[in-house]
Amino acid sequence: MSKDIEKVLLTEEQIEQRCKELAAQIEHDYEQENTVPIIVGLLRGSVPFMAELIKRFTFPCEIDFMSVSSYDGTESIGDVRIEKDMDLSSKDRAILVVEDIVDTGRTLSEVRKMFLNKGATNVKIVSLLDKPERRVVDIEADYVGFTVPNEFVVGYGLDYNQKYRNLPFIGVLKPEIYE
Ligand code: 5GP
Ligand code: MG
Ligand code: MG
Repeated sequence: MSKDIEKVLLTEEQIEQRCKELAAQIEHDYEQENTVPIIVGLLRGSVPFMAELIKRFTFPCEIDFMSVSSYDGTESIGDVRIEKDMDLSSKDRAILVVEDIVDTGRTLSEVRKMFLNKGATNVKIVSLLDKPERRVVDIEADYVGFTVPNEFVVGYGLDYNQKYRNLPFIGVLKPEIYE
């Protein structure tokens, strides 16, 4: 696992510290609006980040998960499919989508549209990472943990062929792993 990593971009301490700040900001904003949002994690990459955020929330919220897919290996296949829908109804609800990374922006743009079509009153996005250099769809997350360079990253939920999600940091794999 760790031996396959060429370099660490973000340590566990940096991520936890940033999650504290994000959680405080998000909590402040929902308290101001006086709404009870549904926090929707996109499986599976958002799980560690979602856990790190929600354990710090002291305001009323509900949580749910859904699974969409757009990626195979390191290259986007271009279309977004809903593989597992959430259980709660998003009609007339404020939604906070939790994502691991905004890359081309296709996934979040589709997910946002889908929630608005289903009657959500408000859709916000929090993403642990943002890779703006790769954007093809004009979309920004409302809250971003860190901006990362145009490199394929793994760890803290992010996978390469379903592995490395369990690493407690964000890193870049050695080139020979892809060979
Ligand atoms: P987008 O639709 O914005 O292009 O990409 C969305 C999904 O692609 C992310 O949720 C993530 O699963 C995957 N992805 C994009 N960039 C990376 C990356 O650098 N590393 C990993 N592991 N997944 C990525
Ligand atoms: Mg994802
Ligand atoms: Mg993936």
